[in-house]
Amino acid sequence: MKRYFIHTFGCQMNVNDSLRMSEALSTMSYVPTPEPENADLIILNTCSIREKAEDKMLSALGRYRAVKASRGAILGVGGCVAQQEKDKLLKKVPYLDFVFGPDNIAKLPEVIRRVQEERERVVETAFVDSEEYVFPRADAETSRGKVTEFVTVMKGCDNVCSFCVVPHTRGREVSRAFPEVLLEVADLARVGLREVTLIGQNVNSYQGGISFAQLLLRTAEVPGIERVRFTTSHPHDLSDELIEAFRTQPKIAPHFHLPVQCGSDRILKMMRRDYTVVQYLERLEKLRAARPGIAITTDIIVGFPGETEEEFEMTLQLTEQVRYDNQFSFVYSPRPKTGAALREKDWGPVPHEVKVARLERLQKVQRRISGEYTQAQVGLDVEVMVEGRSRYDATKRFGRTPENRTVNFDGDAPAGSFVKVHIERATPNQLQGKQVAVLMEPTVAPPPVELTVPLHVPAEA
Ligand code: SAM
Ligand code: SF4
Repeated sequence: MKRYFIHTFGCQMNVNDSLRMSEALSTMSYVPTPEPENADLIILNTCSIREKAEDKMLSALGRYRAVKASRGAILGVGGCVAQQEKDKLLKKVPYLDFVFGPDNIAKLPEVIRRVQEERERVVETAFVDSEEYVFPRADAETSRGKVTEFVTVMKGCDNVCSFCVVPHTRGREVSRAFPEVLLEVADLARVGLREVTLIGQNVNSYQGGISFAQLLLRTAEVPGIERVRFTTSHPHDLSDELIEAFRTQPKIAPHFHLPVQCGSDRILKMMRRDYTVVQYLERLEKLRAARPGIAITTDIIVGFPGETEEEFEMTLQLTEQVRYDNQFSFVYSPRPKTGAALREKDWGPVPHEVKVARLERLQKVQRRISGEYTQAQVGLDVEVMVEGRSRYDATKRFGRTPENRTVNFDGDAPAGSFVKVHIERATPNQLQGKQVAVLMEPTVAPPPVELTVPLHVPAEA
């Protein structure tokens, strides 16, 4: 038996792609190891959304070089950096054995065979035509013991946001046929999963035979599934039908991640986001009316080329006005071949120290608002889906509320249960408390050794 180690960077798509890679490797009698120093094969599943993510992958690759030297491990790079750099990566990193793009995961066994038997250095980065693309079907056994899982509903992106490299690294949008999605969800439910998150770069433009709202409603009806989530949505495609689904189906969890990117219409136009701040706010208002108490989160980029102090302050104002539950905020990072990077000089680059200072100001405001939300939970009883042992303290249990707030608590309910937790303390990022009642038992017997969670936090973003 040979051992493999996959280091995953970036978003949910990569987390899911790594699972598909491990399934492909199991057909070759490879088994996973948690220690890269004991591996015979190391794969870096990479992200190129920001330059920092790329730098992290290059420094990790440097560390794994020693494993190659000491035990002859094979080294490969997959994911978005692989797709972006292709054969250039083999030239840049002379000890790298293979490079493969997100569309080529099914070819992994063949790529490894060529490296091992034919001593080739392999590059497989062709995009598969939309009509011919076959979504790999997840093996539910890979997810046994977990409570929540991602399910891919589409790949690629047809939008042209001027800052974003995704259309270059993930190709054209292709939707997965809805019966395939529902079969995969049913397989997962059969091994005990209670929650699924439907994932794609822009799920609102889903076209797999039914609308995305209908897909959510059908997913919620799969026996055993209690919570349905999804990510990510583009505000310009957020339909009334989707908002209506939130009103009518309580199993669609009350959390909406709706990336706004910034609070200035001029910058939104330069970003090619196709909505104004007012239109965004109107959508949110409808959503909040349909599902009172829904948690709203977002993504923000600060320091986009040409962003003035006043325009940045509009983002601060929007943050105060919407009162997001949470934000993922980033400093603008120019990416190869993107519209904004090509025009950055004309639009006026924002100096790095100004970007960083703006990010800190924004995050301070968001921390206060997030803290106000979580403090308001202290003294309340909340519903928590138990996912396993807490990562921070093995004597405690970990789960999430329907709004996706993380809860570490004293209790004994096994993973897959739903419990009532009395909240005693809060920080801006998590709630703490104690289990006061069991609301629902797991659907299958819990595994002998429970998982330590959160597992879905990508290694590095
Ligand atoms: N498809 C999603 C959408 O349209 O909202 C976003 C997916 S992207 C993987 C996640 C987030 O990364 C974006 O919402 C954006 O805030 C951030 N991002 C993308 N490109 C970036 C860049 N060049 N610099 C900084 N942040 C970036
Ligand atoms: Fe990138 Fe825009 Fe597509 Fe999101 S919608 S993946 S930000 S191009």
